[in-house]
Amino acid sequence: MPELPEVEAYRRLAERSVGRVVGRVELPDPWFLKGGLTPAMLGAALTGHRFAAFRRVGKLLLGDIDGGRRLGLRFGMTGTLVVDGRAALDGLLYAPARHDPAWERVRIAFVDGGSLVVRDPRRLGGVTLDPDLGRLGPDAAAITGDELAAALAGSTAPLKARLLDQSRVAGVGNLVADEVLWKAGLDPRRPAGSLAPTEVHLLCGTVHAVIADLVARGGSHRGDLTGERRRDGRCPQDGAPLTRSTVGGRTTWWCPVHQH
Ligand SMILES: [Zn+2]
Repeated sequence: MPELPEVEAYRRLAERSVGRVVGRVELPDPWFLKGGLTPAMLGAALTGHRFAAFRRVGKLLLGDIDGGRRLGLRFGMTGTLVVDGRAALDGLLYAPARHDPAWERVRIAFVDGGSLVVRDPRRLGGVTLDPDLGRLGPDAAAITGDELAAALAGSTAPLKARLLDQSRVAGVGNLVADEVLWKAGLDPRRPAGSLAPTEVHLLCGTVHAVIADLVARGGSHRGDLTGERRRDGRCPQDGAPLTRSTVGGRTTWWCPVHQH
């Protein structure tokens, strides 16, 4: 599913639409509108307006509209962004290679002939206006050591579960969490509140480094650990057989030798 690295790629692609006037909004699937939003409301907010900027908080993509409103795009399990017929990323694990027109959920057409389209086969994403950002924790790519310490402090939940909780840290998904904890040498099952200050500091730096690396490599599935998420998978660092279990409700792989 799209995690922070994918949505960051979508954000960069979406910047191509900044400053272009919206001609019309097509909603083949009104079910994709969330939070009481209607096709008429979305059309009124966008038609004749321009995007001033695209930002990202965790896995939420935000388009600032020149009238002061804010478009929110969520990509669920299978959503991708297409601008002017071009997709942000190729070869995504969760996106079928073929393109069925029925998967197009919203099309924002610009008067210059181009478009910004959300394609989502499983339609678990959605469109909102002025989404409530108060429900999201600090963005993982920019979180500070103090913010991460606050997100973990006092918690007896498994460390990985806390990282996946979008209200604590926004943007970390299953693959990114496993890659980060593997690289930081931390056991995903440890109580989140048990980390020493030096471990929180190390974890914070590792979150930033792994995200920057995965963005550069082109997706959350391009980590060093991901290729070993299989029976007989071995730790790329020390060769130990990896352990698989369910942590925080998600399938989790880690190294029993160097992750403590
Ligand atoms: Zn190892």
